[in-house]
Amino acid sequence: MNFRPYISNSQIQERIGVLAKSICDEYAERNPLFICVLNGAAPFAVDLFRACEDIDAELTFVRLKSYDGMGSTGVVKQVMGLSENLAGRHIILVEDIIDTGNTMVKLLADLEAHNPASLRIATLLFKPEALQHSELKPDYVGFEIPKKFIIGYGLDIDGLARNLNDIYILDED
Ligand code: 5GP
Repeated sequence: MNFRPYISNSQIQERIGVLAKSICDEYAERNPLFICVLNGAAPFAVDLFRACEDIDAELTFVRLKSYDGMGSTGVVKQVMGLSENLAGRHIILVEDIIDTGNTMVKLLADLEAHNPASLRIATLLFKPEALQHSELKPDYVGFEIPKKFIIGYGLDIDGLARNLNDIYILDED
C-alpha cells in the first residue's frame, strides 16, 4: 500500500488560523464548548482550540467509533464520555473527517436532544462526493478532498499513523 504526501502540517496550521479567526469573531462572549470526537479529531481539536486563545472557550472529548480498518462498517456506536450539561451552551462539534456523514448525523441527533443554544460542526476534512446526507452542511471545513483514503494528523490505518504531522493520501495507481 502506497501513501503520498498530501497536506503538510504548515498548510493545516495556516487553515486552522483562518477557521479560528472566524470562530473568534462569531463566538466572542458566548463561551463555546468544543466537543472533540476521539480519537481521530484530537490533534485538530487541540490545535483549533489553542488557536482560539482570544476568546473564552471550553474543550471536552467524546468517543464514538464507526470505522474498522479501511472499510466503513456502517455500525455507529453510542456517544461515550459526555459529562457536561449542554443545555443552553454554544457547541462546536469537532471532527477529523466527514465521509458518508453517518457518524455526524447520529452525533448531531444525540447532542440536539440536550437542547444546546447552538450546534455547529468543524471538520478538518470533508469528502463531498462521499456524503450520503444532503442536509448535512459542516460550518467550518479545513479542506474539501476527493473520495480517497487519508492518514496522518490523527487519522489512522488500523490504529497506526495518527502521530504523523502531515496528511497522506492513498496512491491507487
Ligand atoms: P462517516 O461516518 O462520515 O462515513 O465517517 C466518519 C469516520 O470515519 C471518521 O471520523 C473517521 O474515523 C473515519 N474515516 C472516514 N474517512 C476516512 C479516511 O479517509 N481515513 C481514515 N483514516 N478514516 C476515515
